[in-house]
Amino acid sequence: MGMRIADVQEDIDHELITKEQIEDIINRAAAQASEDYRGRNPLLVCVLKGAVNTIAAFAQAMSIPVQMDFMSLSSYGSGTESSGTITVRQDLSTDVRGRHVLIVEDIIDSGITLSWLVDELKRRGAASVEIFALLEKPARRKVDVDVKYKGYEIPDEFVVGFGLDYDERYRNLDSIAVLKPAVYQGGQA
Ligand code: 5GP
Repeated sequence: MGMRIADVQEDIDHELITKEQIEDIINRAAAQASEDYRGRNPLLVCVLKGAVNTIAAFAQAMSIPVQMDFMSLSSYGSGTESSGTITVRQDLSTDVRGRHVLIVEDIIDSGITLSWLVDELKRRGAASVEIFALLEKPARRKVDVDVKYKGYEIPDEFVVGFGLDYDERYRNLDSIAVLKPAVYQGGQA
């Protein structure tokens, strides 16, 4: 059931994080967050679209009532590097004033988008803002962000799967993998 590495074998260089490892780290972080947020009705915030799988699994693994909301951001920059200019394409439908917000992220690269979001939610009057990030690329970090619930640190390689895409593909792959360079170059892998 589901799309596995074997189903897209010709495009995949190697698997980096297995389905079981993803479940394990999410379950552990969600258990900790359930303790920390008990009685506080946290609002889980997801930045579309890459973090959709992560927030769904995270919310499902929490043992206290939570709310979820979604926003879409775009950052304009050259190439794969995000710039400091961030635009809200689709905003939250929740007023975050006085709320305990937990941002559930797929991956932190430069940290620029996330750092902007933390500041923005605080500007809007959130009572607290914390972060869970499934993946982090420490080598690429440009801006310091404080990640309370940590996932896996990965090398500086472009990854897909579990919500993360390349050109809108591979989001439904059930693990995290590195693509063959030929896929980006548009040729046959
Ligand atoms: P940042 O502002 O931290 O540089 O950008 C983070 C965003 O860049 C992530 O939410 C994700 O959308 C995208 N991103 C960064 N690294 C990767 C990667 O290895 N694979 C994919 N698919 N997206 C990435």
